[in-house]
Amino acid sequence: MNQQLVASYWAAQRRDMVERQLKSRGIRDPRVLQAMLEIPRELFLPDESRDLSYRDEPVSIGHGQTISQPYMTALMAQCLELRGTETVLDVGAGSGYHAAVLGALAAKVYAIEIIPALADVARSNLETTGRAGNIVVVCGDGSAGYPQHAPYDAISVAAAAPDVPSELLDQLDDPGTLVIPVGSLWDQELRVVTKSGGQLSTVVASFCRFVPLRGTAGWR
Ligand code: SAH
Repeated sequence: MNQQLVASYWAAQRRDMVERQLKSRGIRDPRVLQAMLEIPRELFLPDESRDLSYRDEPVSIGHGQTISQPYMTALMAQCLELRGTETVLDVGAGSGYHAAVLGALAAKVYAIEIIPALADVARSNLETTGRAGNIVVVCGDGSAGYPQHAPYDAISVAAAAPDVPSELLDQLDDPGTLVIPVGSLWDQELRVVTKSGGQLSTVVASFCRFVPLRGTAGWR
């Protein structure tokens, strides 16, 4: 296949994913839908998983980790209600795809990844896709946040925590929103924690299953 055909093949897969997996399940934020229509998710997957790029499920990115189901990425991004001016912390950069989506919706993204090889992968994927301009990938334990650039208007955690890490709440601006899966290793609820006027409030957006959060506030 020539390059144009390949590009239109993936563009069609992307349109299909947005219609069938996102719109049909209630993703409404036009900016989230547009970002996911534009970002070439297939370039964030390793060669051996590329065929699965638009599957309605998490897909292996190596190192025992997965790129989240597209719907979960969309839901988490929608919950943050980003308008383009925010500084965001993305915990669990993995392939860098979720960071790319957040980068399209906010002003600045700090993406932290605990596995050094994956931090390199995320950085390289963001460069290749031309998305690295407003995204900094760092290697470290994001369960303790990333105090260097706190406070954050929004924090997104893509790994399951036993509880909401207090460091993340401390590093959340007021007003600010944190989205995080909390529960057991097998089942979690996606919590949306909002800080406003010094008060925290929580709603559950969905039930979910993420890979475990490691590090000081994660699973040992
Ligand atoms: N958002 C990613 C996928 C996340 S998978 C994407 O779009 O591809 C969860 C990621 O969180 C894994 O890469 C895992 O290594 C990472 N992780 C787990 N615990 C972490 C921690 N304490 N700090 C930073 N990253 C962590």
